[in-house]
Amino acid sequence: MNAIIQSTKALLLKELLSGMFLTFKYMFKKPVTINYPYEKSPLSPRFRGEHALRRYPNGEERCIACKLCEAVCPALAITIEAESRADGSRRTTRYDIDMTKCIYCGLCQEACPVDAIVEGPNLEFATETREELMYNKEKLLANGERWEPELAAKIQLDAPYR
Ligand code: SF4
Ligand code: SF4
Repeated sequence: MNAIIQSTKALLLKELLSGMFLTFKYMFKKPVTINYPYEKSPLSPRFRGEHALRRYPNGEERCIACKLCEAVCPALAITIEAESRADGSRRTTRYDIDMTKCIYCGLCQEACPVDAIVEGPNLEFATETREELMYNKEKLLANGERWEPELAAKIQLDAPYR
């Protein structure tokens, strides 16, 4: 009896028709998927993405080479070398972040007394090689120049919690 029912269902293409009905039904519903990268989902204003080093409006680097970010980084991803300038100020001669180690915890940003290192909104920095994810000071400063309005807005947003 069961075999007859199964055969009848197969003969009448029941599964096929119910599948097509489901497809037809969803054709008129609002899609839940987006056409990335042409469409993007909303991002939290406090999203922690790619790092950047910021400058003051006069072009001077914010970073004073205190190394707090290096000390606080739980992933040991940051490497800093520094020396004094002729005017007595301290500046980094090397500021590297190994982005393959970084866990995007945001502690470096929180520790920085001068809002120099910030995790910006950029999440599209995938690379083809590991080497490209070894960021140096030039790369981080270039990120700072590229994203400054967004970085400044993010620091303002975080200010009440610091
Ligand atoms: S976000 Fe966290 S893990 Fe990444 S560099 Fe900063 S402190 Fe280190
Ligand atoms: S980025 Fe900030 S915390 Fe890190 S060394 Fe520079 S001033 Fe200090």
